[in-house]
Amino acid sequence: MKTFKFLLPFLLLGCFFMACNSAKKASGGDDGIIEITFLQMNDVYEISPSPSSNSGGLARVASIRKALLAKNPNTFTVLSGDFISPSVIGTLKNEGKRIRGKHMVETLNALGLDWVVFGNHEFDYDDLSDLQARLDESNFTWMAANARLKNADGSMEPFFKNRNGQKESCPDNVVVTVKDADGTSINLGLFGVLINTGKKPWVDYSDWSVATRKQYNDLKTKSDVVVALTHLPIEDDKKLSAMLPEVPLVMGGHDHDNMIYKIGRATVAKADANAQTVYVHTLRYDKRAKKATVTSELRKVNSSIVDEPTTAAIVAKWEKIKNTALSSSGFDANKKVIDLKEPLDCREDIIRQQQAPAGKMITDAMLAASKTKPDCALLNSGSIRVDDVLSGTLAEIDIVRMLPFGGAITEVEMRGSLLRKTLDTGVRNRGNGGYLQWGLVGYDEAKKQWQINQKPLDETKMYKVVLPDFLLTGNEQNMGFLKAAPGADGKGSDNLDIPVIKKPNPADKTDLRNDIRLALINFLRK
Ligand SMILES: [Zn+2]
Repeated sequence: MKTFKFLLPFLLLGCFFMACNSAKKASGGDDGIIEITFLQMNDVYEISPSPSSNSGGLARVASIRKALLAKNPNTFTVLSGDFISPSVIGTLKNEGKRIRGKHMVETLNALGLDWVVFGNHEFDYDDLSDLQARLDESNFTWMAANARLKNADGSMEPFFKNRNGQKESCPDNVVVTVKDADGTSINLGLFGVLINTGKKPWVDYSDWSVATRKQYNDLKTKSDVVVALTHLPIEDDKKLSAMLPEVPLVMGGHDHDNMIYKIGRATVAKADANAQTVYVHTLRYDKRAKKATVTSELRKVNSSIVDEPTTAAIVAKWEKIKNTALSSSGFDANKKVIDLKEPLDCREDIIRQQQAPAGKMITDAMLAASKTKPDCALLNSGSIRVDDVLSGTLAEIDIVRMLPFGGAITEVEMRGSLLRKTLDTGVRNRGNGGYLQWGLVGYDEAKKQWQINQKPLDETKMYKVVLPDFLLTGNEQNMGFLKAAPGADGKGSDNLDIPVIKKPNPADKTDLRNDIRLALINFLRK
């Protein structure tokens, strides 16, 4: 009896639950409410966890995805732009070919990515064939409602994938029908728009806000709820959300730190770059009330999450390719270089706009590696590609991440008039990779005058300048006038304003000028 008395309340409670369950069944399944899960990443350049913080790693994200899918089959994995560049692996060669983001697409395919919006870094590679190859290899859907492929004859068309000999256009938006266990079914619409800073002759942009309005008007006729995938600065994401309050969720990128805003009833969110965190959004849609609510959870991607084996195998393959290629170029990837006293901002928004500490650090290293005591150093900011804030301990791999293209540095003698023209053009190139970082150069605002090594620039004088070999190709933005090569006998030069060119001997492994990264590593270790 005693036992029965103790159990009685539980038995009664059990009956109550059974009654509720059958009542629900009797009401006929479809409860008019459906939940959709979004797993959001943005700005992912690394497939492995960060060596310094052990956070990130796409095999871990794949595990999170699997767990979310097991809980809710209506789970979609999205990446809000910037992934095929920049990265160390992307700059290396495999089987004689530059990798250029192939490793990212292969890893994201394994992970099970559903949708991406193009980011500005998808337009990093000069040759369209690199982007086209990545499109062709991908199993996920790319969107860019305000960007078009511009053909040589000036005609425009959407970007596309080559599939079985056919062109498959990247859509401006997608509509999918989702259905849950009790039979509730809705149409989900999604569109993608992006920033217009990824400039190449073969891409053309229209105004993102006009494209957004058009996509929404198109989608609202065929979907119950519309969400946005964007690669825009946060101010524009906020504008987009205010413009379309009916869109309950804007999954953004481009900014590298996690953030979340409520604009009216809508959510605007970005995770941390390199999948150090991911956002998990649950969109609950009430079909009868026509009401969407979003709850968002920022998840750390750290060692508490085990790797998903299929993705981990792809990551391991590419890591091996990376380490082999780096060690053959003389780098020991994980060897410590320096403990940074303060974070080093290498974001393109800084590096390509103003004189930055990272620019000073590298030009100081160039001056230190020089043999002729130069009057000044010049560096095209586009050679700094990490587009991130570095902090803590830097290993050799971080220097390679910072300057993935490497290349030699050369000492030249340059006429003052050409030096002035170069500096002026560098300033006009603000915002692109042809903006120059400099060492031992100043500008006197009051006198509107360049200062070289603390003296006014004299246009008739010859200056000793150290610069990357790349600038002497004449291929930097608006700097064709720097094209110069030594004369046939190895002396003199074919450019009258650069009469002396002193290149390092590539066979001399002790000459740090042969690789700007080795020069920087050596300078920082001292
Ligand atoms: Zn971006």
